[in-house]
Amino acid sequence: MFSSYKPTWMVEAIYQITPQQLQALGIKAVLTDLDNTLIAWNNPDGTEELRHWLAQMEAAGIPVVVVSNNNAQRVAKAIEPFGLDYTSRALKPFARGIKQAYHKLGLSSKEVVMVGDQLMTDIKAANSAKVRSILVRPVVDTDGWNTRINRFFEARVMKHLQKKHPDMVWRGELNDR
Ligand SMILES: [Mg+2]
Repeated sequence: MFSSYKPTWMVEAIYQITPQQLQALGIKAVLTDLDNTLIAWNNPDGTEELRHWLAQMEAAGIPVVVVSNNNAQRVAKAIEPFGLDYTSRALKPFARGIKQAYHKLGLSSKEVVMVGDQLMTDIKAANSAKVRSILVRPVVDTDGWNTRINRFFEARVMKHLQKKHPDMVWRGELNDR
């Protein structure tokens, strides 16, 4: 019943994903949610770890593309400091934005991974697009009211999933199993 919300992996934070781990899995590009995955609303410039991680990905030739439900203006402004490409109005939990993003990169669904902090939007969208996914912990605990309501349902879905899939645990890195 909840399998469409099941992430492929669960990693504490996006910056714990290394180019080597991705390459070993045949992943050539990272698609990522914006809010609370890459940046926190109260720290729009991102952390030192994030900047270091982006530099690592760039050096390895792995594009990082933001896939966000927000409008183009908001997304463009938010990611300006990082110089990333993006797909806005992605309509997560639907597959549209993710498909658009990997088509634009000239890659297949098997060659990208979707990273996000929400099962009900990011992970569900990845599963709809048949793309592997990485759930990360939200960058900050405080959210807007709409996200807070989502998180209430997320916690319930997570409980069901973890009961059914005991291997669904938070890991320090992708291949840590
Ligand atoms: Mg988010």
